[in-house]
Amino acid sequence: MSEQTRFLLSENDLPKYWYNINADMPVATEPVLNPQTLEPVTPDFLSVLFPMELIQQEISKERYIEIPQEVREIYKLYRPTPLIRAKRLEKALDTPAHIYYKYEGVSQAGSHKPNTAIPQAFYNKAAGVHALTTETGAGQWGSALALACNFFDLDLEVYMVRVSYDNKPYRRVMMQNFGAKVFASPTNLTNFGRSILEKDPNSPGSLGIAISEAVEVAATSGGKKKYSLGSVLNYVLLHQTVIGEESLMQMDLAGEYPDVVIGCVGGGSNFAGLAYPFLRMNLKEGKKTRLLAVEPTATPSLTKGIYTFDYGDSARMAPIMKMYTLGHTFMPAPIHAGGLRYHGMSPSLSALYKGGYIEAVAVKQLATFDAALQFSRAEGIIPAPESAHAIRATIDEALDAKQKGEKRVILFNLSGHGNFDMTAYQAYLEGKLDDFIYPEEEIQRAMKDLPKVDLPA
Ligand SMILES: *Cc1c(COP(=O)(O)O)cnc(C)c1O
Repeated sequence: MSEQTRFLLSENDLPKYWYNINADMPVATEPVLNPQTLEPVTPDFLSVLFPMELIQQEISKERYIEIPQEVREIYKLYRPTPLIRAKRLEKALDTPAHIYYKYEGVSQAGSHKPNTAIPQAFYNKAAGVHALTTETGAGQWGSALALACNFFDLDLEVYMVRVSYDNKPYRRVMMQNFGAKVFASPTNLTNFGRSILEKDPNSPGSLGIAISEAVEVAATSGGKKKYSLGSVLNYVLLHQTVIGEESLMQMDLAGEYPDVVIGCVGGGSNFAGLAYPFLRMNLKEGKKTRLLAVEPTATPSLTKGIYTFDYGDSARMAPIMKMYTLGHTFMPAPIHAGGLRYHGMSPSLSALYKGGYIEAVAVKQLATFDAALQFSRAEGIIPAPESAHAIRATIDEALDAKQKGEKRVILFNLSGHGNFDMTAYQAYLEGKLDDFIYPEEEIQRAMKDLPKVDLPA
């Protein structure tokens, strides 16, 4: 074991391949369905929204997929990212556990999201696409895609959830600096947006609604615009595995191997990006690392949702997937971890959780901000409120190890910094944040709107 604090790789160590979990899935997954016909989707249907290369990655069973040279060149602006041992946090907790974190906040957008934004922009550009549409909640995904579209000279329209548009003006300006057009969703620019505004002119919006608007614009553009999604899909998780591949090398430098790997989950991409290469080691090399996904009690898809077919968006335009879901009409409470306010979960992660290959826990908002402050004061980085969920679970693991007198090695994904989230921290410091507990009635209501899928066995 090394006494070093930071474990750094050189540019030459940047992985040349992404790892595709679909080559090694130990459990069955279900096909993605067309939202109109409820039949398995055809590449034709998907090609309205996505370029062919990404569709192929979505269904590929190849274990390793090469990272294009053009993508690696841009990755090099911020990758390999550091792996850091949180020695000062260990000391503050007085725990025998060793805590490591992979820091994805060093990207220009401040999170892990450029890891997929950059290849998505690249593949669209290569397919001759001129413009992309997307949604953004907290603004993390929008800023990552704005950055990437800027590098590949693509136009970008971002449908930003209204509460975030109002509460997070700086993320909006960041997107605009990179040349993106940003709209507060629901807008009056789409049929779906107008239908929501008719019912509720003050609608705060949701990720589901914003996805529907971005999808509608791409689908009705006559092929001029494609749609880009920042989480949930197989190829997004694939692109994020660059995080775990680097971490395997860095844990090796540290001379340790994690007993538990932790990440927060919205759609599942940063967690899977870190965890799937470690899952490969579990499946193929006999390692026994626990993989722990952490979600908010306000949107508890894994811990309280059901595993079933559901629409990916509110307007039922996006494909139907089998996943853990709270229902596509579920309206999450306005917690400050905007990136975790999604009703569903990545299908591969859902299947692995169902099969017992992954664990999940839900944590409350106040305890999460407590953990964020404890981490900031020990390590000097203010985490994104999303990432703070992983920190909460990490601290709980470290305290559990202390209680049991175990030297546990913990690795978590610090998926982003929180430098744009001062409104949330201010609310916390002023005692204005609440816990949103399991929204039972709202989930029961939304469950009534699930699609009735009847696939042949
Ligand atoms: C978007 C985001 C998340 C949640 O998305 P996943 O796809 O589950 O990773 C988590 N952390 C940060 C910093 C984000 O921006």
